[in-house]
Amino acid sequence: MDLSTIKGLGEKNVKLLQQCNIFSVEDLLAYYPYRYEFLNPNHFVTSDEKMVQVVNATVEGEAKVSFIRRNFNRLSFRVIIENKIVSVSIFNRAFLKANLTNGREITLIGKYNEKKNQFVANDIKLNVIKEAKITPVYHLTKGLKNVHFENWILDALRKPILVDDKIPEYYLEQYEFIPKLTALQYLHKPQNAEEIKKARLRLIYEELFDFMFKILYLKENETKAYGLQRELDLDGVENFISSLPFVLTEDQLKAIHDGLEDLQSEKRMNRLVLGDVGSGKTIVATILMYANVLAGYQSVMMAPTEILATQHYLSLLKLFEGYSIHIELLVGSMKVSEKKKVLERIQTGQVDFIIGTHALLSDQVLFANLGLVVTDEQHRFGVNQRKNLQNKGFRSDVLYLSATPIPRTYALTIYGDMDTSMIASKPNGRKPIITKLKKDNELKEVLAAIYEEIKLGHQIYVVAPLIEESDSEDLKDVNLLKEKFELAFRDKVHIGVLHGKMKSNLKDEVMKSFEQGELNILISTTVIEVGVDVKNATMMIIFNAERFGLATLHQLRGRVGRNDLQSYCYLISNQDSERLHVLEESNDGFYISEKDFELRGQGDLFGVSQSGDMTFRIADLKRDYKILLQAKKDALAFLESKAYLRNAYFLELTKNIDFTN
Ligand code: ADP
Ligand code: MG
Repeated sequence: MDLSTIKGLGEKNVKLLQQCNIFSVEDLLAYYPYRYEFLNPNHFVTSDEKMVQVVNATVEGEAKVSFIRRNFNRLSFRVIIENKIVSVSIFNRAFLKANLTNGREITLIGKYNEKKNQFVANDIKLNVIKEAKITPVYHLTKGLKNVHFENWILDALRKPILVDDKIPEYYLEQYEFIPKLTALQYLHKPQNAEEIKKARLRLIYEELFDFMFKILYLKENETKAYGLQRELDLDGVENFISSLPFVLTEDQLKAIHDGLEDLQSEKRMNRLVLGDVGSGKTIVATILMYANVLAGYQSVMMAPTEILATQHYLSLLKLFEGYSIHIELLVGSMKVSEKKKVLERIQTGQVDFIIGTHALLSDQVLFANLGLVVTDEQHRFGVNQRKNLQNKGFRSDVLYLSATPIPRTYALTIYGDMDTSMIASKPNGRKPIITKLKKDNELKEVLAAIYEEIKLGHQIYVVAPLIEESDSEDLKDVNLLKEKFELAFRDKVHIGVLHGKMKSNLKDEVMKSFEQGELNILISTTVIEVGVDVKNATMMIIFNAERFGLATLHQLRGRVGRNDLQSYCYLISNQDSERLHVLEESNDGFYISEKDFELRGQGDLFGVSQSGDMTFRIADLKRDYKILLQAKKDALAFLESKAYLRNAYFLELTKNIDFTN
């Protein structure tokens, strides 16, 4: 149903909602609150100045605003609470002044000091709360207020909406789940905590059942799917391997072996190479791509960022110098004319290796004879995206690379539809990265360490969490850091800056000069997080380290320690966090991910919330693991008994996943 049917939802708001991925009334209802505010107005307590209380009051007279300093103001007014005149103040709510008219009834939340006869409010509800009330709290985007969501969703709940109940009737009955629509009502407009609980349980189960059904269905069909059966030029592959400047590790060889078998077999390859950062997944993929090309097919590799795609492209060019292999890059920022040429060459089969970003998913990209699809940093892409590229080839094989070492049990569930090759060991000669926690006031020490590394001719990454000046002053902004560093090192070092808002050709330039050693230090936001490979970089400095999850920090740290030089990582944080010590102790991504999971749940598993395969609306893999296991069991029975063939929703779902091309 169209969003414009909702009362009070104009065109401008429709645009804002789209930023939250809400495109229809159904989407709006599926925008679940992430927490609740419980408010229960009570009798006024004057004797306890520490107690946070919720009281109703009547405005008396007019409110005054005083501006204390920039971005800081106080709103003061008088009210009557249970026959007592009290003065109220609240900070940074000057905008409420016009609403606080004489005689208006409001609800105050805050603390009362009897001596001063003053109520310091931290919130004011203009719609007076008469009885206990639970307010759902939604994630907001700029320009939208919580009350917008409350009102629109309330209106949406009154509409004759058809919601997909994805739980098969059999399980609905078995578990005595409430109907979907009731669940939505309970979730968005709960009368009590019990309703929230019931609604959540049902919606979590539904989400996980749906997810597991898809995974299991994929798995069942993958095992049946036919791929390209090729004759491989194993001597050619062998020759290439022996020409490499290093010896492959056992795990790498095993993964290559698995992949070669897949390429030769009539079964379609659907393989995940799972390995810690720096374990050398790229070369494994490269060798398989080469084997596929030798057999007469095109190979494509998709990476999540242009920087990474460009880097893969450049290193492949180097690696295949002197071979008659044609390699092209395809990224969104290319000139139209340039792109057109590349597209034509791809379509006419003049290119063997195609490296690119999401741009590869465009309908314009047609392959002459695509044989192998590689997705690097697979966890960055959603299930649909990965299927999409694969479907561009006739029975093409697929290989996924993922650096995210997630706990094994979870990995097996989540990636249950794929065969996996694990690369557990790092290439020989790698020294563990020495990691140290430092406070802001120890920066001098860190700067000295940086200078030592630069004198050795090594390079440094510095990660700052934000791009622009923010209101919170202790966050280090990239440009600010650059100034600071330049001041510290005078003009003895060359510093480059990289952040997400830069044009991509500029980014590439900066990255290139860092790779070529022209820059000693690269200060950036987390854009460098994924995959970049500069062997000469030996030190990683991360500011405000407490803002990142362990898995992300480990990935960032993995940018250094890429050859046999001793590498270092400094985590700078003023907070004493036990969490960060895990990184001082260990360089093992699998161990760290277990710890991260233990300490924080799935939240930051991939460093990017809201993207990739494991984005759930309401379920949480760790918290809801038991429900996941149950849902998996149920989904399997549902699939095996073929009951899904009599279920409209699931039947439709299976029709939309097409393996037969
Ligand atoms: P990741 O698994 O994180 O994607 P990469 O594939 O980028 O790691 O590999 C990290 C670095 O290690 C690269 O510079 C790569 O050339 C190098 N490398 C890969 N395999 C080996 C090996 N067996 N011995 C030495 N260096 C290797
Ligand atoms: Mg990589």
